[in-house]
Order: sequence, then C-alpha cells, then structure tokens
Amino acid sequence: MTRLSTIVIAGAGQAGFQAAASLRQAGFRGELCLVGDEAGLPYQRPPLSKAYLSGKLSREGLLFRAKAFFSDNDIRVIDNTRVTKLDRLSKRVMLSSGEALHYDHLILALGARNRALAVEGRDLDGVFGLRTVADVDRLRVRLKSAGQIVVVGAGFIGGEFAAVASALGKSVLMLEAADRVMGRAVSADMSEFFHRAYAQWGVHLVLGHQLKRIVGQNGSVSGIVTEQGLSAPADVIVYGIGAMPNVELAVDAGLEAANGIRVNDQLVTSDPAISAIGDCSCWPAPYAGCDIRLESVQNAADQGRAVAARIMGSTKPYSAVPWFWSDQRDVKLQIAGFSPGSDRSIVLGDPEKNSFSVFCFRKGEIVAVESVNRTVDHMAARKLFERTDRELSPDDVCRPGFSLKDCIIAKV
Ligand SMILES: Cc1cc2nc3c(=O)[nH]c(=O)nc-3n(C[C@H](O)[C@H](O)[C@H](O)COP(=O)(O)OP(=O)(O)OC[C@H]3O[C@@H](n4cnc5c(N)ncnc54)[C@H](O)[C@@H]3O)c2cc1C
Repeated sequence: MTRLSTIVIAGAGQAGFQAAASLRQAGFRGELCLVGDEAGLPYQRPPLSKAYLSGKLSREGLLFRAKAFFSDNDIRVIDNTRVTKLDRLSKRVMLSSGEALHYDHLILALGARNRALAVEGRDLDGVFGLRTVADVDRLRVRLKSAGQIVVVGAGFIGGEFAAVASALGKSVLMLEAADRVMGRAVSADMSEFFHRAYAQWGVHLVLGHQLKRIVGQNGSVSGIVTEQGLSAPADVIVYGIGAMPNVELAVDAGLEAANGIRVNDQLVTSDPAISAIGDCSCWPAPYAGCDIRLESVQNAADQGRAVAARIMGSTKPYSAVPWFWSDQRDVKLQIAGFSPGSDRSIVLGDPEKNSFSVFCFRKGEIVAVESVNRTVDHMAARKLFERTDRELSPDDVCRPGFSLKDCIIAKV
C-alpha cells in the first residue's frame, strides 16, 4: 500500500482530518486531498453544544489546525464541495464543483446527519438541529431573544444544550420519549443522576412524551403539542433525536452498508481500494461480538490513525477501546468501555457530591465504567479495557477501600 500515489478523503470532519494528518506524519508522500461540504477548515464538533454555544470558545478555537498546517503538509483542502458520486471502475470521485478526482485509495469519512423530526411544523422558523457550526451560529443569534425553549430528546446533545441554555437563564422544557435520560448510552444510575441534575438546574424534564406537532404563528414557532397531550409555548426548539450515517454515496456505488458502511477489521470496505472510518462506518468490534457503529471523537480519531497506519503498511486489526465524554455545567461525564447489554451496575463514590463512578458488568464481566468528575477512575478504566486479562469482579469493586487505579497498578 505504501506505493499509492493519490489518496482522496471524502468528508473533512474529525475522522477525515485525522487520517490526513496521520498519513503525513507517517511519511506518506503522495497526493493527499481532503474534500468537505462545509465551508472553511476542518473543525471539532464537541464544543458546538458546549463552549462554542455558550460563547466561551471562538470560531478559531474550533479548528483542528490553522491554514498553514495544510499548506505546510501539502494537504489540498477542498471545502464547500460535495462528493456527489463514486466511480469505482475508473477510481474517480465526482465533485459538486464539476471537478473529478482520481484516487488510488479513497477514504470515506462522511460522518452522520441528524435524524430529522417527522412532525407537522418542523420547517417553521425557530426549529434547530445542532450539528454544524453554521447551525450553532444561527441558533446563538436566536437564543439571545428566546424566552421559552423546548428541547426534543434528552440524549447527550439535548442534555448539553439544555445545560447551556438553562445556565444562560432561559426557561427550558426538555421532552424525552423514553423513560429515562440518555437511556441508550448510560446506566440507569447515571440517568438518575442527570435527571436530578437537570431538576437542580431548573430544566423542566418531561419523560415518556413524544412530540406530536410544532405549532406556529406567522411562520415562526410558537409552541409544541405531545402525543400524550401536553401543550407548551416555545419560541425556539432544539432537537437531538439521534443520527443517521451518511451511507448513500457508498450504497449507490454498490458498497455493502447497513447501519453504516460495512468495513472489516482493517477498516476496508467491500472494495479493497476504499476504506470507511468514523461515524459513517460499521465495523466488527471484538468487545461487542457484532458489527457496531459509534459516534464519538475517540472512534473517529482512532480510526483515522488506524487507516493511515494500515495504508503505510501495518496489518494490525483495529480494536481500539471506546471512550466518550460529555460536559454539562460542572459535571464531566467520562465513559470507558461499551455498556449496552450490561446487567449489573455498582456505584462507587458520592453522586450527591457530583463525584462517583458506575461500574457496569455483563454476566460478571466488567464492560464499562462511567465516571462523573473522577478522571482518575476514567483513565484507569481505559487502561483496564486495553488489557486482555480484565479480571475485575463485582466482589472486587465492592471490597472496602477499592481503588481502580491501585488495582491496575498492582496488576502491572
Ligand atoms: C454537537 C455535537 C457534540 C458532540 N460532542 C461530543 C463529545 O462531547 N464527545 C464525543 O466523543 N463526541 C461528540 N460528538 C460526536 C463527534 O463529534 C463525532 O462522532 C465526530 O465528529 C465524528 O467524526 P466524523 O469525521 O466521522 O464525522 P464528522 O465530524 O461529522 O465529519 C463528516 C464530514 O463529512 C461531510 N460530508 C458528508 N457527506 C459528504 C459528501 N458527500 N461530500 C463531502 N463532505 C461530506 C460532513 O458534512 C462533515 O463535515 C458530538 C457531535 C455533535 C454534533
């Protein structure tokens, strides 16, 4: 693979940027082109619902690297331009500008898009998704005059937005169709903690309610109605009800895809000249025992590094340990491992003092550690999950004086 002369990366977000930077760092000397449909240089998404939303981080602060990095490293960045078609036979990608680019290897780093609201009123002025810097720039202007905000979906993005908006003194109603917050991603103990936190922050959380209709006046949002019969006023609605992988380009080109573009443990698609990484890819995770798709910085960045290493000759299968974080006011949640399917959780520390960890087990095996303001536990958990001999039982964790960090050190 090291003799490739042209690599095109479609999608200039976290994964695409990382792949380009890692390829150059590893000594790739061929042509490298990063094509993205957003305007400007590649930037980080996490601050969009946190420090950038609250105005604590500037637009420059979002960028992965300044302009000079790309010219110094001879990375051609084509922004504001969509890849519209893949021609696998001639190994070319067609761009919305009309240009066609030849590739020897193509990396698809197309990310995901917000799952759209499917209710009447979704196109009214004042309804916002939260994915791009352009979304947040518009939202920030609107927030200044907003009185009543409704958040649809109490996942990470909805929760982070509600945390910022309530801190700005806004009245926030958060609707969640399920019976607990962040239910798909965290343990019931962690959901309970955030439930209490939202109440303390003045966020009015309503569980078990599904949005039925958005009501408008003169083209702008004026309220919501839920399937369960709740009506509430609103002048801004922010929704975060999940994301869909951008697979259409790949599917149209005949690549295998389901919940993501399917890749093997080397991150290669069903076409050996094309890889897929980040939010758009679905890969065989050894710890999950099935193909999974993750939406996280860790996954995008690690897959970007891994694809670059493979192109430069490594044959190591991709098997990075997943980790994630969410910042909401003074709460730093950090998760290591993969908790879906866990059947037992043990809480250590004190949720009342905003400092605790939840140890999640499946059939007696540790599968995830969720920490609030306990970075020491989180870092120790990441070390634990890197090991193949993860001998940590519920009894170990319940032992008086147990410390995950000491336990890891003792086992080295
Ligand atoms: C508001 C927000 C907050 C988040 N907070 C956290 C967090 O706290 N912690 C965490 O771990 N993760 C967080 N995430 C998730 C994380 O940002 C993503 O998992 C990560 O950005 C995925 O990287 P990616 O490169 O796969 O996709 P992206 O970064 O989304 O990049 C994909 C790019 O490809 C572009 N694209 C799509 N189709 C085409 C095409 N046909 N042609 C050209 N370009 C195209 C897209 O517009 C996009 O710019 C957050 C995400 C959002 C939206």
